[in-house]
Amino acid sequence: MAHGDDGFAAALAAAAGYSQAWLDSLPHRRVGPGRNASELAAVFGGPLPEAGMPAAGVIDFLATQAEPGLMAMPSGRFFGWVIGGTLPAALASDWLVSAWDQNAGLRYATPATAAIEEAAGHWLLDLLGLPSTADVGFVTGATMANFTGMAAARWRLLADAGWDLDRDGLFGAPRIRCFVGRERHDTVDLGLRYLGLGKPTEVDADGQGRLLPAALDAALAGGTGPALVCLQAGNLHSGAFDPFAEAIAVARKHGAWVHIDGAFGLWAAAAPELQHLTRCYEEADSWGTDAHKTLNVPYDCGIAIVRDPSALRAAMGLHASYLVHDADGPGDPFEKVPELSRRARGVPVWAALKSLGREGVAAQVGGLAGAAAAIAEGMAALDGVEVLNDVAYTQVCLAFGDDDTTRAVTARIIEDGKVWMSGSRWRERDILRVSVSNWHTAGEDVGTAVEAVRSALAAVRNF
Ligand SMILES: *Cc1c(COP(=O)(O)O)cnc(C)c1O
Repeated sequence: MAHGDDGFAAALAAAAGYSQAWLDSLPHRRVGPGRNASELAAVFGGPLPEAGMPAAGVIDFLATQAEPGLMAMPSGRFFGWVIGGTLPAALASDWLVSAWDQNAGLRYATPATAAIEEAAGHWLLDLLGLPSTADVGFVTGATMANFTGMAAARWRLLADAGWDLDRDGLFGAPRIRCFVGRERHDTVDLGLRYLGLGKPTEVDADGQGRLLPAALDAALAGGTGPALVCLQAGNLHSGAFDPFAEAIAVARKHGAWVHIDGAFGLWAAAAPELQHLTRCYEEADSWGTDAHKTLNVPYDCGIAIVRDPSALRAAMGLHASYLVHDADGPGDPFEKVPELSRRARGVPVWAALKSLGREGVAAQVGGLAGAAAAIAEGMAALDGVEVLNDVAYTQVCLAFGDDDTTRAVTARIIEDGKVWMSGSRWRERDILRVSVSNWHTAGEDVGTAVEAVRSALAAVRNF
């Protein structure tokens, strides 16, 4: 086709229009999807078409047919799992990333995206109060961020034990003892499994799910050899943070590497009124977080941060460990993440931070915790509702008497469609979890959430 009419203009205009219509629908629409995946599979599936179709037509079909199957995850009334939302600058910059189509692995080949991601990395370290010389890698999510941090740990611990991991692999290597809190996120185990490190030892936790430092001490003292301790900033249920000062001191005493899974909790460090939750967490060796949760950039974007760049680049770089020579320089982006080829997913992080500024991030994170506190307060005032956790961050766990009632109320809330909250099981009980992680969630959404729970409970009781 002639230049200027190669199909882009019509397709992009259509995509922008449908995107705006979707965003405009968020404040009003039912939160849950109206059709299930099996129904939609018939719409999108069937035999592979023999003939193609113009790009704009593809976008028309896609947008109109997908719409009934979309969950209003980016709405201020979505409180399920820990999801996030999308800031305008983050979304628009994500479109640019696709249009630019840079393979973001090499500094010299894609200097713009390399410079943008380096700037985002420095801003993050400053904002989160982490060592300014740490390496930052942009990965797909916290699962991979934790995997990446723990891969650096594995490399360093084995190198210190005199084992050449790159040459000899894992078979026959000294065993790395891995310790996690009883309530760590399951994806930490997944990362350890990918790394061939096996099942971690569970360390006892308190009633909010915080690891007990004395129990960690006893567990570490029960053996010898290299050790990796994975702590948590932000418990999926309670929102609680492990006691970093005490736990890291214990780990240090035993020579262990400390990694912190802070998928949504690391951001507490950016809000002055929440900073007490992350006290001394900067003394760890590596940290994993998500930008697609609390920071509110589009999926998929996680961040791996490692204090010792040489360990990260040895673990992830494409070269053998003996070629690591530029650990003091910025390094190529590919040396800090598992992938060689990837999109420049750090660009939306830069755009989010540029648009919010330090004050804006603090206000956003503080606002999420404030909304969670307001929801908890509203719920606690309702007859028959128990708030099960100390609401210090963004998570609220509720129960309504027995498990059957809690499950029935959860199902009713989802069916009503005014808000979305997920059911879970915590401390031997079925619960309803409320997670506030979208910048859009405002006062009226708090009221809507409390009213949705009240009316669902009333309906279940009158059944
Ligand atoms: C979400 C989450 C993860 C996994 O993150 P992904 O982005 O889904 O890979 C890990 N840990 C915690 C505490 C989480 O909330």
